[in-house]
Amino acid sequence: MTESFVIVGDGIAGSSAAETLREEATDADITVLTDEGEALYNRILIKEYAKGKLPEAPISIHDEDWYADRDIDLELDTYVTEVRPDDGEVETHGGEVYEFDKLLLAVGGTPNQLPVDNSDADGVHHFWTFQDARRINESASQADEGVIVGAGLLGIDLAAVCGAQGVEGKYLMRGDCWWRYALSEEGAEIMHDAMRDKGVEPVFQSGVDHFETDEDGNVTAAVDPNGDRYECDFAGVAIGLDRNTELLESLDVEIDGGIVTDEYMQTSHPDVFAAGDITQFHDVILGEQAQNGAWGSAKEQGAIAAKNMLDHGTEQFEWVTSYSITHFDFPFLSFGHPTLGDDHVERKYSDTEWRRLAIKDGRIVGGVLIGDLAPQSGYKELMRERVDVTGQEEALLREEFSADDVKTEQAVEN
Ligand SMILES: Cc1cc2nc3c(=O)[nH]c(=O)nc-3n(C[C@H](O)[C@H](O)[C@H](O)COP(=O)(O)OP(=O)(O)OC[C@H]3O[C@@H](n4cnc5c(N)ncnc54)[C@H](O)[C@@H]3O)c2cc1C
Repeated sequence: MTESFVIVGDGIAGSSAAETLREEATDADITVLTDEGEALYNRILIKEYAKGKLPEAPISIHDEDWYADRDIDLELDTYVTEVRPDDGEVETHGGEVYEFDKLLLAVGGTPNQLPVDNSDADGVHHFWTFQDARRINESASQADEGVIVGAGLLGIDLAAVCGAQGVEGKYLMRGDCWWRYALSEEGAEIMHDAMRDKGVEPVFQSGVDHFETDEDGNVTAAVDPNGDRYECDFAGVAIGLDRNTELLESLDVEIDGGIVTDEYMQTSHPDVFAAGDITQFHDVILGEQAQNGAWGSAKEQGAIAAKNMLDHGTEQFEWVTSYSITHFDFPFLSFGHPTLGDDHVERKYSDTEWRRLAIKDGRIVGGVLIGDLAPQSGYKELMRERVDVTGQEEALLREEFSADDVKTEQAVEN
C-alpha cells in the first residue's frame, strides 16, 4: 500500500524532510503544507535583503516546480488549524482534510512581541519571514533614526540593517553587554566597538518601557525604563522565539517549550515526528533535552526525521550546531550550547580576537569564537567525543590549539 506523509511547514526542516522522503520512498504520497505564500527560501540570507545588500532572486531556494518535478504536493497559503493524530488527519483553515500515515511537524516559531504599549505601531518590526525582510528593507531605507531591542543573534542582524541602511541606531540592552548569557563583557566589547563602527550605539541597563507614536500610528520614539527617550522612525524587536506548539496543546503529545522528541525526532505519539526549531529534542552529545535555533541543525533534523518516518529508520540526530555572523570586518561563530555550562574558560588574543568555551561536568558544551574560527573543528571534535577537558585550560586556549594536544595532555595527566 502507498504510504502517505504530511509535512507541516516548508522551512528548511520541512523541505529537507520532503526531499529525503522522496529520495528514499519513490512511490510515497508526500504533501507539504505551509502558511507562507512562497516556497522554501534562505532564511539566513533575508537579513542581507533587509540590509539592501542582496536582490530577491538568490534568496529563493526552491520554486514550485521543484516540488512538482518530484511529485511532492506543495500547498502554499495553507494554515493547519488542527491535528488529529489518532485519526491520521490534519485540517486546514479552509476546512480541507489531509490524511497521513506519518506526520512531520516542522512549524518553527514566531517572534515574541514586546509586551509594552504601542509595540504594534507602524515602523516597529519583528524579523522572521521574507515578508518581514521586505517590510524592514522598505522602512529602514526611509528612516533616519532607529532603535533595536533584544541583545541576541537576531537583534544584532537588525542593528546591522540600521548600519547598512544609514540609519542612526541606538541598541537598547537590558544588561551591561550584548548576548550576556554567552559572552563576558571583554568579548562583548569587541562586538560593541564593531556596532559603533557601523553607526549603532549600544545603550546598557536600558530596554523599552513603551513606544510613542504620532497621530497616524507611526512610531516616533522608544522610552526606556529609566525614562530616557530615544527618537526613532524605525524599531526592530528581537526578544526570542515562541515555538508554534499550539497545534498539539490539547493533545496527548508531550510539549515543553517545544515539541518534545527523542534523538530519532519522534514525539510521544508513534505517528508524529517533529524537526527543526520547534523541537525540544534529546541531544545525545549533551545527554539531555535541548533546543537549537539554527539552519544546519534544522536541515539535518528534517533529513533524520524523514528516514525514521520510513520504516527503516533508527538513525539518530547527533550534531554540533553552528551559527555565524558576517556583518563585521571579523568573523563570529557560536557553536553548540554556549549559554549552558557550570564553568567556562576564555581569552582575548587581540582587539578583534577572543574565545570562550562553556563547560559542563568537565566537557565542552558550546562556545563563541571571535576573529579566528580555525579552532572550531577541534572544539567540536572534543564535544562529539565527549572528552573530559578538566584541567586543560591552557591547552584549550592556546593560540595554536589542537584537539589532539588536549587529548594527549589529558592522557598524560591521567
Ligand atoms: C533573520 C534571521 C537570520 C538568521 N540567521 C541565521 C544564521 O546566520 N545561521 C543559522 O544557523 N540560523 C539563522 N537563523 C535561524 C534559522 O533560519 C532557523 O533556525 C531555521 O530556518 C529554522 O528552520 P525550521 O524549518 O525549523 O523553521 P522555519 O524556518 O521557521 O519554518 C517553519 C515554517 O512553518 C510554517 N508554519 C508554522 N505553523 C504552521 C501551520 N500551522 N500551518 C502551516 N504552516 C505553518 C511557518 O510559516 C514557516 O514557514 C536566522 C533566522 C532569521 C529569522
